Amino acid sequence: MIVLRDIVKRYTMGEEVVQALAGVDLDIARNEYVALTGPSGSGKSTLMNLLGCLDTPTEGTYTLNGRDVSGMNDTELAQVRNREIGFVFQSFHLLPRMTVLQNVMQPLVYRGMPQDERRARAAEALGKVGLGDRMGHRPNQLSGGQRQRVAIARALVGAPSILLADEPTGNLDTRTSAEIMALFDALHAQGQTVILVTHEPDIAAHCHRVLRVSDGRIVEDRRQVPVRAAS
Ligand code: ADP
Ligand code: ADP
Repeated sequence: MIVLRDIVKRYTMGEEVVQALAGVDLDIARNEYVALTGPSGSGKSTLMNLLGCLDTPTEGTYTLNGRDVSGMNDTELAQVRNREIGFVFQSFHLLPRMTVLQNVMQPLVYRGMPQDERRARAAEALGKVGLGDRMGHRPNQLSGGQRQRVAIARALVGAPSILLADEPTGNLDTRTSAEIMALFDALHAQGQTVILVTHEPDIAAHCHRVLRVSDGRIVEDRRQVPVRAAS
């Protein structure tokens, strides 16, 4: 599903050039559950931004579901993102003036889908994350764990082929983190491809595959038997 070949990413800031990725080759198949780990500044976010089609590589090719996305312009990338990628962030990024249901309906606006259908799909996604009874609430009326569930519902509503999560439990306490990881585990068990960035071994332990990034390269690619969240 994901094929990266000889990926290099450089950022230019005036005179200075930073090489954030220094030659990455990576294949990720459908329904993998992958943790991306490594020290701060190693290139994890840069790699996630490329995988999520938020940015394109300086060199190399990225083939996503058979299409070369590495040379696409911003409009084309936005279309691929809307269809293929669901994003979850550490800090939720919900719209405070909208209800939970409206937040989750939002990504479908760009699909030109009728309002009734958007509403039905958003309600279904909220049911999937256990928030079917909170649809009329505003984000500030919810706990951190519930907000992250809303963000996960929003990421899932368009049925993306890949769910990308950047430190999804970074703002949550231990118990709530375990609940959110149980949800990712369940989504993976239902067939969802999940890739997450984390620096916490307890979080990476949920995944079937752990990639360690260092100085812009993947220095370790390990398969493991995952642990399951205590329930
Ligand atoms: P990580 O997510 O592992 O902390 P990043 O991918 O954010 O690593 O960063 C990798 C390197 O690229 C760092 O040296 C960082 O300072 C640099 N970098 C990341 N994003 C930018 C940017 N937008 N402009 C310039 N340099 C950047
Ligand atoms: P933080 O670690 O500070 O909480 P996030 O995990 O929320 O940051 O965001 C990680 C990166 O993704 C940031 O560089 C941010 O600018 C970018 N980002 C956040 N929200 C979105 C979004 N809705 N669409 C695209 N990029 C985003």
